[in-house]
Amino acid sequence: MLDIQKIRADFPILSQKVNGKPLVYFDNGATSQKPQVVIDAIARYYQEINANIHRGVHTLSQLATDAYEASRHTIQHHINAKNAYEVIFTSGTTHGINAVANGFAALLKAGDEVLVSALEHHSNIVPWQMLCERTGAVLKVIPMNDKGELIQAEYDKLLSPKTKIVTVNHISNALGTINPVKEMIAKAHQVGAAVLIDGAQATPHLKPDVQDLDCDFYVFSGHKICGPTGIGILYGKETWLRKLPPYQGGGEMIATVTFEKTTYADLPHKFEAGTPNIAGGIVLGTAVDYLNEVGFDNIAKYEHELLEYATQKLLEIEGLQIFGTAEAKTSVISFNINGIHPYDIGTIIDKLGIAVRTGHHCAQPIMDYFNIPGTIRASFAFYNTKEEIDVMVEAIKKAKMMLS
Ligand code: PMP
Repeated sequence: MLDIQKIRADFPILSQKVNGKPLVYFDNGATSQKPQVVIDAIARYYQEINANIHRGVHTLSQLATDAYEASRHTIQHHINAKNAYEVIFTSGTTHGINAVANGFAALLKAGDEVLVSALEHHSNIVPWQMLCERTGAVLKVIPMNDKGELIQAEYDKLLSPKTKIVTVNHISNALGTINPVKEMIAKAHQVGAAVLIDGAQATPHLKPDVQDLDCDFYVFSGHKICGPTGIGILYGKETWLRKLPPYQGGGEMIATVTFEKTTYADLPHKFEAGTPNIAGGIVLGTAVDYLNEVGFDNIAKYEHELLEYATQKLLEIEGLQIFGTAEAKTSVISFNINGIHPYDIGTIIDKLGIAVRTGHHCAQPIMDYFNIPGTIRASFAFYNTKEEIDVMVEAIKKAKMMLS
């Protein structure tokens, strides 16, 4: 059992007032709040050990390098990667996907196929479209049903020896659907395709086991898991990371440089050109340690309670429709109220201190599927409460009255 009041005390921002009302923060899908240990760790890095890494022989540089590499090991163990050098620091999910898509440009030829799903965030669509434009490969889409679940029978039909990579999110940011990625990965491997899993929305809610999933790539962002912005992870299987060319050239990623020829550094440095986000990398380890202390089993159980409670309360509002009703779903609720634009609700409840996301959630194809401009999205974290859900439901009722 989680002691929610104790957990809330770890997050200073949660005791703030916004527009004169206690903050109710339900925009966790966009970014999570940060516990004091993470905030302190950022300050401590700059106060005590700030230095560039992997370069200097001086003491601070050694300390910074050790802390950065220790964090890589923390992430390795967290996601159960076989080797620490399969864990690449990036600036976030978007960077990780672009690094892989860019690398595949060297491996694809015209007529090859890239499979994305209908449930993707734009950052897991656009880099693959760019790749297809460059190579003449063809982008194919795994369709979804009215519940917001990927249609597995259609996926089976799309897979063929032409499929070179399948890219799908573990959890949808717009609808909260948890996709059966382990089964999808196994099927893709049967036709020899690689699989990238976008874990941006999964990592706040569960602990991914990349060896059990057997994914070829797994990407996520630090800022959604209580860490800072501008840091993320690209996990890649060693064989793939060796096969792919580097995404960016520069310092840190080379073995030798002459004007005639450059040879690349070994993993993971081959994919880490330039001075990285050192503080971010170190503090991501702090954030992961914090979440593991809270415990992902506890988080999942509690967030599921919040999801069920909020779903039931919201459905009591007449004219309210929830989009995304998959059996397997995380603590995200996307909804609209008949005849009212989501933006108008979002604006009114913001005045009451409630932060939700409104719009297309960087997933326009999903909105097009439902033929709507956008939704209101409430996404809950383990530090939210049922009382906050009550406050939101009352605020929505008030907004509805004002707008009807
Ligand atoms: N994929 C999904 C499923 C997401 O929810 C997000 C962030 N909303 C991203 C990718 C992009 O993450 P970032 O902006 O941190 O790179």
